[in-house]
Amino acid sequence: MATRFPFQDGGGKNATFKKHLMQRLIKSGSASIADIAKELELSIPTVTKFVGELIREGYVKDLGKQNTSGGRRPNVYGLNPKSGYFVGMDVQRKKILLATIDFNGNIVSNDESYPYELANTPEALEQLIHILTDYISHLEIDSRKILQVGMNIGGRVNPNTGFSYSYFNFSEKPLTKVLEGRIGIPVSLENDSRAMMYGEFMAGCVKKEKDVLFINLNWGLGAGILIDGKPYYGKSGFSGQIGHICALDNEIICNCGKKGCLETEASGYAIERMLRERIAQGCTTIMSEKLEAHGEFLLSDFVDAVRKEDMLSIEIVEHIGFVLGRWIAGFINILNPEMVIIGGPLSETHEYLRLPIQSAIRKYSLNLVNHDTRLVVSQLGERGGLIGACLLSRSRLLDMI
Ligand SMILES: [Zn+2]
Repeated sequence: MATRFPFQDGGGKNATFKKHLMQRLIKSGSASIADIAKELELSIPTVTKFVGELIREGYVKDLGKQNTSGGRRPNVYGLNPKSGYFVGMDVQRKKILLATIDFNGNIVSNDESYPYELANTPEALEQLIHILTDYISHLEIDSRKILQVGMNIGGRVNPNTGFSYSYFNFSEKPLTKVLEGRIGIPVSLENDSRAMMYGEFMAGCVKKEKDVLFINLNWGLGAGILIDGKPYYGKSGFSGQIGHICALDNEIICNCGKKGCLETEASGYAIERMLRERIAQGCTTIMSEKLEAHGEFLLSDFVDAVRKEDMLSIEIVEHIGFVLGRWIAGFINILNPEMVIIGGPLSETHEYLRLPIQSAIRKYSLNLVNHDTRLVVSQLGERGGLIGACLLSRSRLLDMI
């Protein structure tokens, strides 16, 4: 599908200058021509020319005189928020979340949540397309102005080729092309943990840190890695699969088909198994009623149980924190990050999870190295993946990642 954005590929040197200028306005906000020229190391006439062209093309706005006291006040330029929109779609195990941002990164629609059962079947893909089409048709935005849909999904994805390997790999074409063919809008694809990390980086708990490790403690276990302010993908986009490190000497078969994976002891699946085992052994917990009544285990019920100080649930979350913390200690030794973020639905247990992780990090990482690292709980919580999907899609279009 042809891009809806004129400066994407093959636009030559001028398109590259314009993209750099727009990247600058995204990263540091509106600015005067003199400031932009200085920061981008371009001459004032060059910046004036490109800003003028971007204004005529509708992407940049003259915001008028700067509101400061004293001296000659220069005009300030910023992105035109209405010049394009990005839809973010966060595909979770039981629901799909959707939101839309304008070119300035502001959310312009209410977050929408659609019930959904994620399964690797053509029917589940059809339902996903139906939900996305329905959402776009109800937006109060001309759909021709949607420059890209950014979609997150768990498992192995290759954002460069657009293939998703763990879900919906039914065609010879990449999933992004399959979706574009159906909805008529360019689509980009991202791994869920990396998108959550990007949400925190652009709009969450990351302030000036550029080397960050994000842990997604969810039904499964994954990680997003930020190195020098950019997501780290590895050769094919498969970086961050920490859940499948062969970390344990157990006989539990993981979702990936191997055994002994870290995910078998530190994930939502592991919690459900441990709870059912302990209940069968006669342990009492407020979770027993829920597990027996619906037969279905919800991570939110477990988080509630921890908050209500259910002893067995606290014991399990502490166990997970310690098992996970030991491996995070190893990653800290390898990566020397400034920040480690504990995210995903189970991070809503906050200090019950953070403290055992902190304790294991102190015990197992090199003292000098771990002094550099701050361990925090995600700020965006459940919305992290959704915000990340929206912002990643804009950054991808502007070659910022
Ligand atoms: Zn595994």
